[in-house]
Amino acid sequence: MAGHKTQTTELIGPVVMTVLGPISADRLGRVLVHEHLRIALPGEEFDPRSRQSRRSVERLCELKEHGLGTFVDPCPMDLGRDVELMAEVSERSGTDWAIAKDRRSSAAAAMNQMSGLE
Ligand SMILES: [Zn+2]
Repeated sequence: MAGHKTQTTELIGPVVMTVLGPISADRLGRVLVHEHLRIALPGEEFDPRSRQSRRSVERLCELKEHGLGTFVDPCPMDLGRDVELMAEVSERSGTDWAIAKDRRSSAAAAMNQMSGLE
């Protein structure tokens, strides 16, 4: 399974904030701009987090093999945003996740946050 390499050198140029910290925009590769790692609907509490994480990592590793490595998740808090789960899945899958940071958000706001416009 691909591990995530957190960027530890000084960042020069455009930077994107991800769930694991800032990365250089140069390493984004192909980006999917409106993907939800998780949305909590009634009954979600019966799906253990470890199972969600395992399934997500498996699928993201498959997508990474097809050249997709960066995702923007605009999920608002009240729809089940789970930053700890995102960080765990990002680390284990080797994918980068830029997420909404406000209580309510939209894909456009997440993209603006990602690009430093907000
Ligand atoms: Zn959405």
